[in-house]
Amino acid sequence: MQLLDGKALAAKIETTVVNEVKELKNKTGLVPGLAVILVGQDPASAAYVNMKKKACDRVGFYSVTHEMPSDISQSAIENTIKMMNNNPNIDGILIQLPLPKHIDTTKLLELVEPSKDVDGFHPYNVGRLTTGLEGFVPCTPLGVMELLNEYNIDVKGKNCVVVGASNIVGKPMASLLLNANATVEICHIFTDDLKKHTLNADMIFVGAGVINLIKEDMVKDGAIIVDIGINRTDDGRLVGDVDFEKVCEKCSYITPVPGGVGPMTIAMLLSNTLKAAKAHAKARV
Ligand code: NAD
Repeated sequence: MQLLDGKALAAKIETTVVNEVKELKNKTGLVPGLAVILVGQDPASAAYVNMKKKACDRVGFYSVTHEMPSDISQSAIENTIKMMNNNPNIDGILIQLPLPKHIDTTKLLELVEPSKDVDGFHPYNVGRLTTGLEGFVPCTPLGVMELLNEYNIDVKGKNCVVVGASNIVGKPMASLLLNANATVEICHIFTDDLKKHTLNADMIFVGAGVINLIKEDMVKDGAIIVDIGINRTDDGRLVGDVDFEKVCEKCSYITPVPGGVGPMTIAMLLSNTLKAAKAHAKARV
Protein backbone atom coordinates (compact mmCIF):
# COMPACT_ATOMS: atom_id res chain seq x y z
CA MET A 1 0.00 0.00 0.00
CA GLN A 2 1.20 3.48 -0.82
CA LEU A 3 -0.08 6.69 0.73
CA LEU A 4 -1.25 9.47 -1.58
CA ASP A 5 0.49 12.35 0.17
CA GLY A 6 -1.63 15.46 -0.36
CA LYS A 7 0.35 17.48 2.15
CA ALA A 8 3.59 17.08 0.20
CA LEU A 9 1.98 17.83 -3.16
CA ALA A 10 0.14 20.86 -1.76
CA ALA A 11 3.46 22.25 -0.49
CA LYS A 12 4.97 21.76 -3.95
CA ILE A 13 2.02 23.55 -5.58
CA GLU A 14 2.31 26.44 -3.11
CA THR A 15 5.95 26.94 -4.11
CA THR A 16 4.93 27.16 -7.77
CA VAL A 17 2.14 29.63 -6.88
CA VAL A 18 4.61 31.81 -4.91
CA ASN A 19 6.90 32.01 -7.94
CA GLU A 20 4.05 32.75 -10.33
CA VAL A 21 2.70 35.49 -8.05
CA LYS A 22 6.14 37.15 -8.13
CA GLU A 23 6.23 36.87 -11.90
CA LEU A 24 2.73 38.34 -12.27
CA LYS A 25 3.63 41.20 -9.94
CA ASN A 26 6.85 41.96 -11.84
CA LYS A 27 5.08 41.95 -15.19
CA THR A 28 1.84 43.75 -14.31
CA GLY A 29 2.17 45.20 -10.80
CA LEU A 30 -0.88 43.14 -9.82
CA VAL A 31 -1.24 40.58 -7.05
CA PRO A 32 -4.08 38.04 -6.91
CA GLY A 33 -6.88 39.00 -4.52
CA LEU A 34 -9.35 36.71 -2.75
CA ALA A 35 -12.50 37.85 -0.92
CA VAL A 36 -14.15 35.44 1.51
CA ILE A 37 -17.65 35.85 2.89
CA LEU A 38 -18.12 34.25 6.30
CA VAL A 39 -21.57 34.35 7.88
CA GLY A 40 -22.16 33.39 11.52
CA GLN A 41 -20.08 31.76 14.22
CA ASP A 42 -19.77 28.14 13.06
CA PRO A 43 -16.35 27.08 14.44
CA ALA A 44 -15.60 24.68 11.55
CA SER A 45 -16.36 27.37 8.94
CA ALA A 46 -14.25 29.91 10.86
CA ALA A 47 -11.37 27.41 11.02
CA TYR A 48 -11.55 26.73 7.25
CA VAL A 49 -11.62 30.45 6.47
CA ASN A 50 -8.65 31.00 8.76
CA MET A 51 -6.69 28.26 6.97
CA LYS A 52 -7.53 29.82 3.59
CA LYS A 53 -6.45 33.27 4.80
CA LYS A 54 -3.14 31.90 6.11
CA ALA A 55 -2.53 30.14 2.79
CA CYS A 56 -3.18 33.42 0.91
CA ASP A 57 -0.66 35.18 3.16
CA ARG A 58 1.95 32.47 2.57
CA VAL A 59 1.80 32.83 -1.21
CA GLY A 60 1.58 36.64 -1.30
CA PHE A 61 -2.09 37.11 -2.25
CA TYR A 62 -4.17 40.05 -1.10
CA SER A 63 -7.11 38.66 0.88
CA VAL A 64 -10.06 40.07 2.73
CA THR A 65 -12.66 38.31 4.89
CA HIS A 66 -16.13 39.82 5.17
CA GLU A 67 -17.36 38.53 8.51
CA MET A 68 -21.11 38.88 8.97
CA PRO A 69 -23.46 38.07 11.86
CA SER A 70 -25.73 35.02 11.46
CA ASP A 71 -28.87 37.22 11.30
CA ILE A 72 -27.54 39.28 8.37
CA SER A 73 -30.05 39.93 5.58
CA GLN A 74 -29.94 38.36 2.13
CA SER A 75 -29.68 41.80 0.52
CA ALA A 76 -26.68 42.81 2.66
CA ILE A 77 -24.73 39.74 1.49
CA GLU A 78 -25.85 40.37 -2.09
CA ASN A 79 -24.55 43.93 -1.88
CA THR A 80 -21.18 42.70 -0.64
CA ILE A 81 -20.94 40.22 -3.53
CA LYS A 82 -21.83 42.96 -6.06
CA MET A 83 -19.15 45.17 -4.52
CA MET A 84 -16.57 42.38 -4.82
CA ASN A 85 -17.67 41.66 -8.41
CA ASN A 86 -16.81 45.27 -9.26
CA ASN A 87 -13.64 45.52 -7.19
CA PRO A 88 -10.58 45.30 -9.49
CA ASN A 89 -8.38 44.18 -6.57
CA ILE A 90 -10.47 41.03 -6.13
CA ASP A 91 -9.98 38.11 -8.51
CA GLY A 92 -11.76 35.41 -6.55
CA ILE A 93 -14.90 35.40 -4.41
CA LEU A 94 -15.61 32.56 -2.02
CA ILE A 95 -18.79 32.18 0.01
CA GLN A 96 -18.06 29.87 2.93
CA LEU A 97 -20.85 27.27 3.14
CA PRO A 98 -23.13 26.32 4.78
CA LEU A 99 -25.08 29.56 5.24
CA PRO A 100 -27.87 30.16 7.79
CA LYS A 101 -31.29 28.75 6.84
CA HIS A 102 -32.90 32.11 6.05
CA ILE A 103 -30.33 32.80 3.31
CA ASP A 104 -30.95 31.75 -0.31
CA THR A 105 -27.55 30.15 -1.05
CA THR A 106 -28.31 29.41 -4.73
CA LYS A 107 -29.17 33.05 -5.40
CA LEU A 108 -25.87 34.16 -3.85
CA LEU A 109 -23.79 31.61 -5.77
CA GLU A 110 -25.48 32.76 -9.00
CA LEU A 111 -24.61 36.36 -8.22
CA VAL A 112 -20.85 35.74 -8.17
CA GLU A 113 -19.26 36.91 -11.41
CA PRO A 114 -18.28 33.59 -13.13
CA SER A 115 -14.75 34.82 -13.86
CA LYS A 116 -14.29 35.30 -10.07
CA ASP A 117 -16.00 32.02 -9.14
CA VAL A 118 -12.85 30.30 -7.80
CA ASP A 119 -14.96 27.68 -5.98
CA GLY A 120 -16.59 26.63 -9.26
CA PHE A 121 -20.09 26.63 -7.76
CA HIS A 122 -21.79 29.03 -10.25
CA PRO A 123 -24.12 27.13 -12.63
CA TYR A 124 -22.13 28.62 -15.53
CA ASN A 125 -18.96 26.86 -14.36
CA VAL A 126 -20.88 23.73 -13.34
CA GLY A 127 -22.26 23.56 -16.89
CA ARG A 128 -18.81 24.03 -18.39
CA LEU A 129 -17.45 21.21 -16.22
CA THR A 130 -20.20 18.77 -17.19
CA THR A 131 -19.74 19.57 -20.88
CA GLY A 132 -15.97 19.17 -20.54
CA LEU A 133 -15.18 22.83 -21.21
CA GLU A 134 -12.53 24.99 -19.54
CA GLY A 135 -13.78 26.84 -16.44
CA PHE A 136 -13.46 26.91 -12.68
CA VAL A 137 -13.69 23.47 -11.08
CA PRO A 138 -14.56 22.96 -7.39
CA CYS A 139 -11.34 22.80 -5.38
CA THR A 140 -11.79 19.47 -3.58
CA PRO A 141 -12.42 17.20 -6.60
CA LEU A 142 -9.88 19.18 -8.62
CA GLY A 143 -7.34 18.50 -5.88
CA VAL A 144 -8.15 14.79 -6.03
CA MET A 145 -7.45 14.70 -9.78
CA GLU A 146 -4.13 16.53 -9.25
CA LEU A 147 -3.16 14.04 -6.56
CA LEU A 148 -3.91 11.06 -8.83
CA ASN A 149 -1.96 12.72 -11.61
CA GLU A 150 1.05 13.21 -9.32
CA TYR A 151 1.16 9.44 -8.72
CA ASN A 152 0.57 8.67 -12.43
CA ILE A 153 -2.75 7.03 -11.68
CA ASP A 154 -4.88 7.00 -14.83
CA VAL A 155 -8.62 6.61 -14.30
CA LYS A 156 -9.36 5.87 -17.97
CA GLY A 157 -11.51 2.73 -18.26
CA LYS A 158 -11.47 2.16 -14.49
CA ASN A 159 -14.61 1.37 -12.49
CA CYS A 160 -14.87 4.40 -10.23
CA VAL A 161 -17.45 4.57 -7.46
CA VAL A 162 -18.15 7.98 -5.97
CA VAL A 163 -19.90 7.84 -2.59
CA GLY A 164 -21.64 11.14 -1.86
CA ALA A 165 -23.50 13.26 -4.39
CA SER A 166 -23.26 16.84 -3.15
CA ASN A 167 -22.75 19.77 -5.53
CA ILE A 168 -19.45 20.54 -3.78
CA VAL A 169 -17.84 17.12 -3.71
CA GLY A 170 -19.57 14.09 -5.25
CA LYS A 171 -21.15 15.49 -8.42
CA PRO A 172 -18.11 17.47 -9.65
CA MET A 173 -15.88 14.50 -8.69
CA ALA A 174 -18.01 12.27 -10.90
CA SER A 175 -17.91 14.81 -13.77
CA LEU A 176 -14.12 15.04 -13.64
CA LEU A 177 -13.77 11.26 -13.63
CA LEU A 178 -16.20 10.89 -16.53
CA ASN A 179 -14.36 13.61 -18.47
CA ALA A 180 -11.19 11.55 -17.91
CA ASN A 181 -12.93 8.50 -19.43
CA ALA A 182 -13.58 6.52 -16.25
CA THR A 183 -16.72 4.43 -15.83
CA VAL A 184 -18.51 6.21 -13.02
CA GLU A 185 -21.17 5.20 -10.51
CA ILE A 186 -22.51 7.70 -7.98
CA CYS A 187 -23.83 6.34 -4.69
CA HIS A 188 -25.62 8.30 -1.98
CA ILE A 189 -27.73 7.97 1.13
CA PHE A 190 -30.56 6.26 -0.79
CA THR A 191 -28.31 3.78 -2.57
CA ASP A 192 -29.43 0.25 -1.83
CA ASP A 193 -26.58 -2.05 -0.73
CA LEU A 194 -23.57 0.27 -0.97
CA LYS A 195 -21.20 -2.69 -0.59
CA LYS A 196 -22.46 -4.26 -3.81
CA HIS A 197 -21.24 -1.16 -5.65
CA THR A 198 -17.96 -0.55 -3.82
CA LEU A 199 -16.84 -4.19 -4.09
CA ASN A 200 -16.81 -3.85 -7.85
CA ALA A 201 -14.76 -0.63 -7.78
CA ASP A 202 -11.19 -0.23 -8.97
CA MET A 203 -11.27 3.14 -7.28
CA ILE A 204 -13.51 4.50 -4.51
CA PHE A 205 -13.95 8.23 -3.89
CA VAL A 206 -15.85 8.79 -0.67
CA GLY A 207 -17.12 12.12 0.64
CA ALA A 208 -20.17 11.41 2.76
CA GLY A 209 -19.22 12.68 6.20
CA VAL A 210 -19.79 9.31 7.90
CA ILE A 211 -17.06 7.80 10.09
CA ASN A 212 -16.06 4.24 9.03
CA LEU A 213 -18.58 4.17 6.19
CA ILE A 214 -16.12 2.21 4.01
CA LYS A 215 -15.01 -0.99 5.76
CA GLU A 216 -12.54 -3.64 4.66
CA ASP A 217 -15.20 -6.09 3.46
CA MET A 218 -16.49 -3.41 1.04
CA VAL A 219 -13.21 -3.05 -0.82
CA LYS A 220 -11.67 -5.38 -3.38
CA ASP A 221 -7.97 -6.27 -3.18
CA GLY A 222 -5.72 -3.68 -4.79
CA ALA A 223 -8.37 -0.94 -4.99
CA ILE A 224 -7.42 2.73 -4.84
CA ILE A 225 -9.18 4.67 -2.08
CA VAL A 226 -9.61 8.43 -1.97
CA ASP A 227 -11.06 9.55 1.36
CA ILE A 228 -12.57 13.02 1.07
CA GLY A 229 -14.50 12.92 4.33
CA ILE A 230 -13.50 15.06 7.28
CA ASN A 231 -15.05 14.09 10.60
CA ARG A 232 -14.17 14.80 14.20
CA THR A 233 -14.34 11.89 16.64
CA ASP A 234 -15.69 12.25 20.19
CA ASP A 235 -12.11 12.42 21.46
CA GLY A 236 -11.29 15.26 19.05
CA ARG A 237 -9.34 13.40 16.33
CA LEU A 238 -9.82 14.18 12.62
CA VAL A 239 -10.78 11.11 10.60
CA GLY A 240 -12.20 10.43 7.16
CA ASP A 241 -15.02 8.17 5.98
CA VAL A 242 -12.82 5.07 5.63
CA ASP A 243 -11.87 2.57 8.33
CA PHE A 244 -8.26 3.40 7.51
CA GLU A 245 -6.34 0.89 9.66
CA LYS A 246 -8.12 -2.13 8.21
CA VAL A 247 -8.80 -0.90 4.67
CA CYS A 248 -5.23 0.24 4.05
CA GLU A 249 -4.01 -3.37 4.16
CA LYS A 250 -6.19 -4.28 1.18
CA CYS A 251 -5.69 -1.37 -1.16
CA SER A 252 -2.86 -0.31 -3.48
CA TYR A 253 -3.12 3.43 -2.75
CA ILE A 254 -5.00 5.40 -0.13
CA THR A 255 -5.23 9.01 1.03
CA PRO A 256 -4.65 9.63 4.75
CA VAL A 257 -6.90 11.93 6.81
CA PRO A 258 -5.52 14.39 7.68
CA GLY A 259 -2.82 15.01 5.07
CA GLY A 260 -4.60 13.74 1.97
CA VAL A 261 -7.36 15.60 0.16
CA GLY A 262 -7.68 18.45 2.70
CA PRO A 263 -4.40 20.25 1.89
CA MET A 264 -5.07 19.75 -1.83
CA THR A 265 -8.36 21.65 -1.50
CA ILE A 266 -6.51 24.72 -0.20
CA ALA A 267 -3.80 24.37 -2.84
CA MET A 268 -6.47 24.31 -5.58
CA LEU A 269 -8.11 27.41 -4.14
CA LEU A 270 -4.77 29.16 -4.51
CA SER A 271 -4.24 27.93 -8.03
CA ASN A 272 -7.82 28.80 -9.08
CA THR A 273 -7.38 32.33 -7.68
CA LEU A 274 -4.06 32.71 -9.49
CA LYS A 275 -5.71 31.51 -12.69
CA ALA A 276 -8.49 34.12 -12.24
CA ALA A 277 -5.91 36.85 -11.56
CA LYS A 278 -3.94 35.98 -14.70
CA ALA A 279 -7.12 36.06 -16.81
CA HIS A 280 -8.14 39.41 -15.33
CA ALA A 281 -4.64 40.84 -15.88
CA LYS A 282 -4.72 39.66 -19.51
CA ALA A 283 -8.15 41.22 -20.05
CA ARG A 284 -6.84 44.59 -18.82
CA VAL A 285 -4.08 44.94 -21.44
P1 NAD B 1 -23.16 16.79 2.18
O1 NAD B 1 -23.80 16.50 3.49
O2 NAD B 1 -23.61 17.95 1.38
O3 NAD B 1 -23.29 15.50 1.25
C1 NAD B 1 -23.07 14.22 1.75
C2 NAD B 1 -23.38 13.21 0.66
O4 NAD B 1 -23.09 11.91 1.18
C3 NAD B 1 -24.84 13.19 0.22
O5 NAD B 1 -24.92 13.04 -1.18
C4 NAD B 1 -25.43 11.98 0.93
O6 NAD B 1 -26.48 11.37 0.17
C5 NAD B 1 -24.21 11.07 1.02
N1 NAD B 1 -24.29 10.17 2.17
C6 NAD B 1 -24.48 10.51 3.46
N2 NAD B 1 -24.53 9.39 4.22
C7 NAD B 1 -24.36 8.35 3.40
C8 NAD B 1 -24.35 6.95 3.59
N3 NAD B 1 -24.52 6.40 4.80
N4 NAD B 1 -24.15 6.15 2.52
C9 NAD B 1 -23.99 6.69 1.29
N5 NAD B 1 -24.00 8.01 1.04
C10 NAD B 1 -24.20 8.83 2.10
O7 NAD B 1 -21.61 16.87 2.50
P2 NAD B 1 -20.39 17.47 1.60
O8 NAD B 1 -20.33 18.94 1.77
O9 NAD B 1 -20.43 16.87 0.25
O10 NAD B 1 -19.17 16.84 2.41
C11 NAD B 1 -18.98 15.45 2.49
C12 NAD B 1 -17.78 15.14 3.34
O11 NAD B 1 -16.63 15.67 2.70
C13 NAD B 1 -17.80 15.77 4.73
O12 NAD B 1 -17.14 14.91 5.64
C14 NAD B 1 -17.00 17.04 4.57
O13 NAD B 1 -16.42 17.47 5.78
C15 NAD B 1 -15.97 16.56 3.59
N6 NAD B 1 -15.34 17.61 2.80
C16 NAD B 1 -13.99 17.57 2.73
C17 NAD B 1 -13.32 18.51 1.98
C18 NAD B 1 -11.85 18.41 1.91
O14 NAD B 1 -11.19 19.38 1.63
N7 NAD B 1 -11.27 17.22 2.14
C19 NAD B 1 -14.02 19.52 1.32
C20 NAD B 1 -15.41 19.53 1.38
C21 NAD B 1 -16.07 18.56 2.14
